[in-house]
Amino acid sequence: MSNKTILVVDDSKTIRNLVAFILKAEGMQVETAENGIDGLEKLYSMPQINLILTDINMPRMDGFSFIAAVREQDGYKDIPIIILSTEGGEDDIQRGISLGANLYMVKPAQPERMVRNIKMLLG
Ligand SMILES: [Mg+2]
Repeated sequence: MSNKTILVVDDSKTIRNLVAFILKAEGMQVETAENGIDGLEKLYSMPQINLILTDINMPRMDGFSFIAAVREQDGYKDIPIIILSTEGGEDDIQRGISLGANLYMVKPAQPERMVRNIKMLLG
């Protein structure tokens, strides 16, 4: 997994640091962004990103708009996207998946489950 880079998009510095810690312990590389705009900039400037883990509730650009923007771009139709959100309602899950997220996880997520899901989507 050391050749895999994960983009973690979340406005909470605590969450970014926690998720980065967990993924780095698995040997993954981690890039972070604090909202959707920041996330798009990182994604487009770093071709080595293999998977996106994104929050939904964020200032400037939320996770739904971010996912829609990513999927609109040629070259990013297939990049795996996992949502990690405090919102676990059926409407949010449906919306996230229909916009193109591969998986929806609710915070707090078990680290082992998160890692397993990431590895599964990375093949
Ligand atoms: Mg948030």
